[in-house]
Amino acid sequence: MISFKRLLATCGLSVLAATAAFVPAKAQDANYPTRNITVIVPFAAGGPTDVIARIVTGHMQQTLGQTFIIENVVGAGGTTGAARGARADADGYTLTMGHMGTHAASVPLYPKLSYNPATDFVPIGMAAGTPIVILGKKDFPPKDLKEFVAYLKANSDKLNSAHAGVGSVSYSANELLNSQLGIKPVGVPFNGTGPAMNALVGGQVDYMVDQIVNAVPQINAGTIKVYAVATPERNPSLPNVPTTAEAGLPEYQVQAWNALFAPKGTPPAVVAKLNAALSKALDDEGVRKRLLELGSVIPKPAERTPEALGTLVKNEVERWTKVLKPVSN
Ligand code: ASP
Repeated sequence: MISFKRLLATCGLSVLAATAAFVPAKAQDANYPTRNITVIVPFAAGGPTDVIARIVTGHMQQTLGQTFIIENVVGAGGTTGAARGARADADGYTLTMGHMGTHAASVPLYPKLSYNPATDFVPIGMAAGTPIVILGKKDFPPKDLKEFVAYLKANSDKLNSAHAGVGSVSYSANELLNSQLGIKPVGVPFNGTGPAMNALVGGQVDYMVDQIVNAVPQINAGTIKVYAVATPERNPSLPNVPTTAEAGLPEYQVQAWNALFAPKGTPPAVVAKLNAALSKALDDEGVRKRLLELGSVIPKPAERTPEALGTLVKNEVERWTKVLKPVSN
């Protein structure tokens, strides 16, 4: 016959054990992070997504006290890396730096996309807005955007335009330009616009539309031509570069963005910690200086919440679904 006292002791122990089993999960979230954090960048090193990831996570690791490791997982316009990120453990130790391509334009381009940006990820927060600039190789004949448009219309089937693969920002922004101008240039894919920029500087490709953060150093070095920035206002990092509207192509308006995501199921407490560290990075003077001198648009506090990013992904999937047609699989 077991005494009531002993029963209580046994129950007490099992409750304690159960609570102990339960507490580590909560404690894990509260103590998070306790080891290195991997950030998948779905493009080659040196491109805009890689540069932005290294700038913001470089500060986040100071706040969170753990090293952020960038892993460049390239291919298929960024969808290979994004798919890897979607399948990662939902413990906050594998994040994805996605963008307008991987988490919006890829949806209409790949009918069999292996992940759903809206449901297979939880949004952490926006890292940077990245206006699109229209670029040419140094000896490209057009002197301004009007001549650029006329030259493309007359010669596009003989011209090579670089991009970072079907689904990337540069591909999608180029498709928008192609549809507006009624042209079909030869698209030359790269594993990111870091390598694509090398080809443009080397003259192996004729032109590219790319995120401003990748182009500012080359424009300032005079190694490529810039025709316009595709936003309503001029960009402070390129004050002498006209907007597409000023230069005669007002309909061409494109601003990309780069943002941090975690796999669905990541604990809210972990997402909140990562979001707070990201927002703190975006308020740091050194981080802001580096992002702004590359032409980034720094998200305002209200634009940095996970909810704001979730809404943006939904709206951008709708927007790009109207613009882009599926690639022939
Ligand atoms: N964001 C890509 C990169 O960093 C380029 C792109 O999407 O066009 O290379």
